[in-house]
Amino acid sequence: MTKYEVAIVGGGIAGLTAAIYAAKAGKRTIVLEQQKQLGGRAITNKKQGVYFNLGAHALYKGEAYEAFRELGLRLDGSTPSIDAYGMWKEQILPLPTNASSFIQTPLLSWGGKLDLAKWFIKLGKMDTSVWNQISIRDWIETQLNDPMLRNVFYALLRTSTYVLAPELHAAGPALKQLQRALKGVLYLDKGWGTLVEELRELAVQQGVELVTGCKVVAVVHQDQKVHSILCEGGTRIEASNVILTTPPSTSHKLVPHADQTALDTWNKQAIPVTVACLDIGLRQLPIQKHQFIYGLDQPIFFTHQSRDGKPRPAILSDDGTQVISLFKYQGPQTDAVKDEGELEQVLDVIQPGWRNELVIRQFLPKMTVVHDFPHMKRLEDPGPAVPEIVGLYIAGDWTSHGELLVDASVASAKRAVSQLLNTREEIKL
Ligand SMILES: Cc1cc2nc3c(=O)[nH]c(=O)nc-3n(C[C@H](O)[C@H](O)[C@H](O)COP(=O)(O)OP(=O)(O)OC[C@H]3O[C@@H](n4cnc5c(N)ncnc54)[C@H](O)[C@@H]3O)c2cc1C
Repeated sequence: MTKYEVAIVGGGIAGLTAAIYAAKAGKRTIVLEQQKQLGGRAITNKKQGVYFNLGAHALYKGEAYEAFRELGLRLDGSTPSIDAYGMWKEQILPLPTNASSFIQTPLLSWGGKLDLAKWFIKLGKMDTSVWNQISIRDWIETQLNDPMLRNVFYALLRTSTYVLAPELHAAGPALKQLQRALKGVLYLDKGWGTLVEELRELAVQQGVELVTGCKVVAVVHQDQKVHSILCEGGTRIEASNVILTTPPSTSHKLVPHADQTALDTWNKQAIPVTVACLDIGLRQLPIQKHQFIYGLDQPIFFTHQSRDGKPRPAILSDDGTQVISLFKYQGPQTDAVKDEGELEQVLDVIQPGWRNELVIRQFLPKMTVVHDFPHMKRLEDPGPAVPEIVGLYIAGDWTSHGELLVDASVASAKRAVSQLLNTREEIKL
């Protein structure tokens, strides 16, 4: 039986990133992914020449972007402008993001507009960590007076975090994400599948063994040390270190006696975040100027990912089909039929006549965006090591230490590998 120094469960962005850094450090590394393809929630499906992510995906200039650049990934794509609208009582009104919309929009009072401009300037250089211990709701209610400006900030921070519960999400990380959004995000050409492919190529170059179609059923440990991984079908893989990039509930299930480890707390405190996604390919947009729209009285967001930005639009189809996406941010109760109907109604307001331009659509009724996030009920930040079992680590978007979304996946992958490399008790092969 082959022995590995690092075995990684899950071949999404966290797993692939961890594998590359471990292999770069000279570790004999294997990735085990249960699906037939790598990528996890970052895959892109091509349908009738249109590249659909699992819901719109924007790469913020955060930890993930920096790591990908450090690894030399190309990251071809485009940065859309931040001109945006708010939807209020079925009306689409400009948000004051440039000189003309600042003067013209009836959305905010003059006091509200000046306050927004003040906060945008302040956000540019603010140390957001001073707000880590209070919720988004508390931050908004104590810092902003204008009622409509509060609605605007609820919508902006919801879009940055995907979280519908402002009373739960810590304000600091959310404001940091907004700070990054204001500097411009990246929509990737041909979707995030290209990112997955670039990571896969790099992992192969580094000598990582990538195994797909392999469902891990247990992480075997003996004398409080990781021993091996058991796969469905009975294959056993010996490994001195294991990094789990699986969801918290799966990670808990995979480790015998997990209830006697920190995995138990991390699993119990996790609050998943879900959205309903409607992604649509249109021959052309009925209303060109409607590119970004934040729901101010409804928890929705609209974006045109293949928009005519500068220097060029993101390429999301082979034949020029335009790709638009809508999200409905969800609470614990969801209803697929109702959510799809609501998103279509919203689209009737934003892009009337869209049905006449329809090329193809994809509706995903309930996608888990993250399995956990920095919230006010958290007892502790998860990982990187599971302290009770030597050689066991976790990574993934739910193991955030303040980072959000894929930044949490990548930052936690790097944290797990660097702790693994430093640990004195690492078992030598
Ligand atoms: C609708 C939507 C929109 C999003 N938008 C953005 C955005 O704009 N910006 C952003 O930064 N992030 C965004 N995200 C989040 C981003 O996609 C995720 O954070 C990231 O892809 C998660 O990567 P991961 O590796 O942590 O987890 P995953 O991608 O879930 O990878 C885990 C892998 O583990 C595998 N696995 C599970 N159990 C087993 C097992 N027993 N054995 C073997 N393998 C197993 C799974 O199949 C999966 O491939 C969005 C997500 C969604 C759903």
